Amino acid sequence: MAEAKDLKTWNKEDLLEKDRTYMWHHISQYNPNPLIVTEGKGSWITDVEGNRYFDGMAGIWCTNIGYGRPELAEAAYEQLKTLAFFPLTQSHIPAIELSEKISDWLGDEYRIFFSNSGSEANEVAFKIARQYHHHRGQSNRYKIISRYRAYHGNSLGSLAATGQSIRKMDYEPLAPGFLHVQPPYCYRCSFGKTYGRCNLECAQVFAEAINWEGEETIAEVIMEPAITGGGVIVPPPEYLPKVREICDKHGVLLHIDEVICGFGRSGRKFGHQNFGIKPDIVTMAKGITSGYLPLSATAVRAQIAATFMGTAPNQHFRHVNTFGGNPVSCKLALKNMEIMEEEKLVERSEQLGLELRQKLSALEDHPRVGDIRSFGFIAGIELVEDRETKEPAAPDKVVKVINECKKRGLIIGKNGDTIPGFNNILTLSPPFSTTSEDIDFIVGVLKEALATIE
Ligand code: PMP
Repeated sequence: MAEAKDLKTWNKEDLLEKDRTYMWHHISQYNPNPLIVTEGKGSWITDVEGNRYFDGMAGIWCTNIGYGRPELAEAAYEQLKTLAFFPLTQSHIPAIELSEKISDWLGDEYRIFFSNSGSEANEVAFKIARQYHHHRGQSNRYKIISRYRAYHGNSLGSLAATGQSIRKMDYEPLAPGFLHVQPPYCYRCSFGKTYGRCNLECAQVFAEAINWEGEETIAEVIMEPAITGGGVIVPPPEYLPKVREICDKHGVLLHIDEVICGFGRSGRKFGHQNFGIKPDIVTMAKGITSGYLPLSATAVRAQIAATFMGTAPNQHFRHVNTFGGNPVSCKLALKNMEIMEEEKLVERSEQLGLELRQKLSALEDHPRVGDIRSFGFIAGIELVEDRETKEPAAPDKVVKVINECKKRGLIIGKNGDTIPGFNNILTLSPPFSTTSEDIDFIVGVLKEALATIE
């Protein structure tokens, strides 16, 4: 067997040269000096030069359990040896066991359709929602209502559901039939109201959109429990129950996108469980395997799924995905969820989230910190030029803070270049292996980094 190459013998400049010649990076093609990461352990990653960084974004909001868990590698290895592949036109044991476990975590009867990515899981949901209405003789219900600032994926349907213009330009026309309403953004309320003295106009807009469009044309509403990538926008507690009520009243399905908020990230197993609602469709990815292997799922309430299970012509869901629900990914996901249960990582995420939020309050007096928001173990820090006018911080200042953090060994995210002038929200979503000392480190580094733009 060839000997494994000693990582320390790599030459960074050679690698970067090849990277610049052959690699096409996701989004950040303007970055000539990407981190070349070689190892991860817990919440920390190491680059090719041996520099260590705290991964404040858990990859892209996904390595919930933390890096380098040998149990996950072993589960995958055993499954690779036993059965590396079989399509889900038939069945295999890891998928059966995982679908039961997901249904159990959701706390109700759901049927699970597996794919590989969050975008695919959302596409599956859109198709199921539309076909479900066909089954009920309401074939005109094809429209899907989403929210501005939301991100739901990169494919032509999931991007159409996305409410961020900069991600969509140059690729339009996208899938037709998607519309958007204002998000529940209390810091910059679209309705000029203050929470506590409002009528939840941000939820009422769904009723208005449904009425104006004609309820007989609406298939579903899609939303994350809290908008994550779009700027950590956390709704008031009454918001989701109100949206659920409106959907019920108008025969519209409620699809909750748990691609980021699922698997403990919100301090509950799934983000919507913070609000006591039952969705009709739940999509999930990322944390399902803690990012170790590709996998996603679309969970559909049993009564809705039942309408697809007969033999009548065109009754079944005519959708196949070669790699979706690969046995190795399913086995690893099961192990990931078992470890979360055994080590009480969902509860740990909740505690870590509270601790992070409490310690971040040390930054509240900074003249450029407009708002600090959190949802479970996710935090967002909205930077402004002026706390009175709330003018968003200039992009160069936001980038400077991120770079200053990186220099000090902390990786954080930002609300990506979504709306001109509104990429001003720093984001944090660390792995659940994070410790109190790590949180002190995050806050200490952020304080120093913010001092450079005072
Ligand atoms: N939904 C949400 C809420 C997401 O954050 C993402 C990805 N960041 C997606 C869907 C799409 O997931 P993927 O990149 O796996 O296609």
